[in-house]
Parts: sequence; structure tokens; C-alpha cells
Amino acid sequence: MRKMRKFCGAVLALMLLSACGAGEEKAVSQEIYAMDTVMQVSAYGQQGGAAVKELETAIREMESELSRTDGKSPVARLNAQPETPVPMTEEVLDLLETAEGYSRLTGGAFDPTIASVADAWGFTEKMQQVPTAEALRESLEKVGIERVHVDRDAGTVWAEEGTKLDLGGIAKGWASDRAAEIYAAHEVPRGLVDLGGNVLAWGQRPDGAPWRVGVRDPQSEGIAGVLSIEDSFAITSGGYQRYFEQGGRRYHHIIDPSTGYPAESGLLSVTVVAPVEEGRGTLCDALSTALFVLGEERALDLWRQRQEEFQLILLTEDGRAVVTDGLAEAFALEEESGYAQEIVS
Ligand code: AMP
Ligand code: MG
Repeated sequence: MRKMRKFCGAVLALMLLSACGAGEEKAVSQEIYAMDTVMQVSAYGQQGGAAVKELETAIREMESELSRTDGKSPVARLNAQPETPVPMTEEVLDLLETAEGYSRLTGGAFDPTIASVADAWGFTEKMQQVPTAEALRESLEKVGIERVHVDRDAGTVWAEEGTKLDLGGIAKGWASDRAAEIYAAHEVPRGLVDLGGNVLAWGQRPDGAPWRVGVRDPQSEGIAGVLSIEDSFAITSGGYQRYFEQGGRRYHHIIDPSTGYPAESGLLSVTVVAPVEEGRGTLCDALSTALFVLGEERALDLWRQRQEEFQLILLTEDGRAVVTDGLAEAFALEEESGYAQEIVS
């Protein structure tokens, strides 16, 4: 958590530097604690203040719908009694269907029913531990998006015995899509939305240059490189973001649904970048989690199929920064980071 705060600080520093060069134009900035992370939100323009306020309200609403730990949220109620249908808003029903689509697209590497396994590891608790083989086997049996049933007509969701939802792998991307809608509605000319490593770079900096967004180096406190982007989402997943240690080994929070263990795919982090378009924030978030599970080769296979939609930066355990060619200009590796850059096409 401390590390994450530092990173947000790094992004904020970049943002403020940009803002200082601006002259007259002023930004409204706000820090928001929600969805278990520190968020930094800024918006320029006449309606900037109203946009930030509306975004904060929207984020809190989304959190109160999706939270696993707030017992009153529809998701928490479903998880407590999966077989009893729970009413959910149309937006959440849409999100569940979208999540199902990404689960299928990634061959189950992204699976929002991973909750039972995440619970066996204690990832939502204060104390984490390596589960017994038996506990892991039992919890894995409950995983599978086909066990979740969305009833559009009734506006409800139910799930088969023991199956629970964890939308933590997609919620912030969903919120970043909402941020783009709100900024458009308020005619915000420019702004930066950092939802704990999920960034929306809206418009350009006041000086007309692209926004500069740091990509964390998972192996240090610093950054591996800088993305210069405008009107884009940039969303990162990595094992370094949340983990515990037991018996001298590190166990992180992104689970490979095919094993029930933290994914070991040879990747340190995956950053997915996409131009602002409806639903792309959610896409980037689902894919950043899934591609971290799938590893370099399968991530690049999927990119080759859908490269008109998104681009990738993969930091690998063997010290490479693999950058898809759509980001060749936008991504500048920090030389001191020590990664060897590879542009793939
Ligand atoms: P992110 O930071 O977007 O990669 O999301 C990580 C979070 O997603 C974890 O903290 C879990 O709540 C959840 N999660 C873990 N593994 C998976 C998975 N294989 N598919 C979907 N969600 C996952
Ligand atoms: Mg994600």
C-alpha cells in the first residue's frame, strides 16, 4: 500500500508539473479514497469542479454496488447467498455480461468468479495464508463464469452453490469509462484521472503536449518508462501491487484460475493502452489482469487478433520491456531502469 501511494505521488508530480506550465488555465484536483485505493482526479475547464464532484459521487455509487466487503452491496448479498436472486442495476447487469465476454475471450484467464479462491488465500482479509490443497480444490470447483446467471427480465443475478463474485479486476476500468462519459458531458477540455494505476489521460496538457504517465518498475520504487498519451486509457496489472510472504516466498493477488495459485507467467506487469472509446477502460482493465495470467506469448497472440483496439507494454521477469508497435513512439523507456526494449509487430 505504501508503495502504491508513492506511485500515485509520482503520477501526481508529473501532472502538477504539467499544470504549472499552463498559465491561466486552472485545474480542479481531488484525492479520493475508494475501491481500496488512492485515486487522483483532475479536470480543467469551466465545469471542471462539477465534473470532479460528479465523478466522485459515481465512484462511490459503483463501489457501493460492487464491494465485496460492504455487506449491504448487491454483490456482497449475492456472495452471502448465491442461490437467491439479487436485484442489480442495469449498469451492473451490463458489466457482468461484459465480464463474461472477457472471460470467454481470454479462455477463462479473466474470471470474476475467482472470489472463492481469493478468499481461500485471504486476499480480502487482514491475514493471508497459503491454503491447503483440499481448500484450494474445493474453492476452485466454485469458479466458472457459467455458474453465474443474469436474468435480464427480472433484473436479478443468482449463482450456483458456493460461487461468488469478485469484480476487483474490472471495477476501476469500468469507473474510468464512467469518468470519460462525465468529462465529455461537462465539456472538460483536459484532465487526468488516476484510479490507483488505472489512468485516463483526457485531452492534452495545457501546453498542447500529450500527458506523461509513469509506468511503474515493479522491481524498484521508480518508473520503468513514461507513456506520452492523450485521450487514452492506460491500465496496469502486476503481482507487485498486492502480495504477502510466507516461508520466504511471495504470493500475489492475481490468480491463475486454471491452478488456483498466483499467476506465474514470467511477467512482472502488463500495461494495456487504448484510445478513449466507449467501454475501452473496462476492456483495458479486464485484459491487463487476464494477460498477466496468460503470459507474453498468449498476450501477444491476443493483441495480434485485436490490435486495432489496444496496445501493450509487458515488463518481463527476464528484464525486457516488450512494447507493441502502436506505442513505439509513445513509450520512452527510462535508461536507468535496466530493461531491454523490444518493439513487436
Ligand atoms: P487488477 O489490478 O485489475 O489486475 O485486478 C486484480 C484483482 O482482480 C485482484 O485483487 C482480485 O480481486 C481480482 N482477480 C484476481 N485474479 C483474477 C482473475 N484471474 N480474473 C479476474 N479477477 C481476478
Ligand atoms: Mg484489471
